[in-house]
Amino acid sequence: MKSPDQSKSEDKFVNMVTATADVDLRLSDFHPRSQLKTPVHDIKKPRFPVIDYHNHLDSMEPDELLRIMDACGVEHAVNITMQTGQAGLDAMDRLHHAARDRFSSIGWMDWSDVTHKDFVSRTCDRLDAMVEHEACGIKFWKDFGLTVRGADGELVRIDDERFAPIFEKAAQLRLPVMFHTADPDAFFDPIDAENERYEELAAHPDWGFSTVPVKKRDLLEQRSRIFARHPATTFVGAHLAGSGEDLRYLHHLLDTYPNLSVDISARTPELGRQPYSARELFLKYPDRILFGTDLLPEISMYRLYYRFLETYDEYFEYPSHASRQGRWNICGISLPDDVLRKVYGDNALKLLRR
Ligand SMILES: [Zn+2]
Repeated sequence: MKSPDQSKSEDKFVNMVTATADVDLRLSDFHPRSQLKTPVHDIKKPRFPVIDYHNHLDSMEPDELLRIMDACGVEHAVNITMQTGQAGLDAMDRLHHAARDRFSSIGWMDWSDVTHKDFVSRTCDRLDAMVEHEACGIKFWKDFGLTVRGADGELVRIDDERFAPIFEKAAQLRLPVMFHTADPDAFFDPIDAENERYEELAAHPDWGFSTVPVKKRDLLEQRSRIFARHPATTFVGAHLAGSGEDLRYLHHLLDTYPNLSVDISARTPELGRQPYSARELFLKYPDRILFGTDLLPEISMYRLYYRFLETYDEYFEYPSHASRQGRWNICGISLPDDVLRKVYGDNALKLLRR
């Protein structure tokens, strides 16, 4: 039994210890530093030449890009232009003329006239024009399924039969079709204290889809019907086909649709926080995974990707845009050479050589 005097002095001691701590620290001001002492490998150049299959370079100067690429072993970068019409074609020409062997281009799907009766044939003509300008792919962004509306005012469905000729045309042209469908799981949940990407969504509330009438899984399944309906078309699922939080589902997609590959862009945060499962994924599908970043080209950014793929370093910061994806760190997965070579470049080369 403590004497009243003892309790009193313990209280005093506790007060002394906590007196200097700010218990009302705001989340945005909380930046804990890990005290772990673990090996750090700064991989300056990748073990094999790299092709960045997923980036957006419209606003960057070719000379500056090449300086960065040379400094960190990026042999080739694929610009997914975010412009449509003549501006999109001009964006392709600009990079190809600057350095044809260092840049390729993926065109952006133009929905501006989706309500027009000739929309499908116009789109097929646009694919022809992209190929004339040496495009190596066409990208369907997340607006397809989430925001694009038809003449009836309803959301356009990804698996709408009317669009089938577009995917057949892509097969004819041997033009790979990239899909960025839906978004991270957390973006479909309310922006509240349980959301693992709260800070990012609080900074960009317009990125959230918790109030849209369609579920994420429904969007992915609409997209799967396209993969099944067009077996001769080559598809690339951007951002791990939207399944970075559920690698079992990604295994299912890759097992079911042999015409599907995926890029890892903007998904090291997901892969690196489940390093055992991530490594298993790469070892099981070494021919189906493409290196891509989807982040503003910077030397340090590329080196973090290499650290993740080439080392067993533990608990380090993932490459990210400024607002981060979530409050966690990642572990490296030290891929074997034969897998690394394919992921870094060989798999992309097959898609670039139409
Ligand atoms: Zn992107």
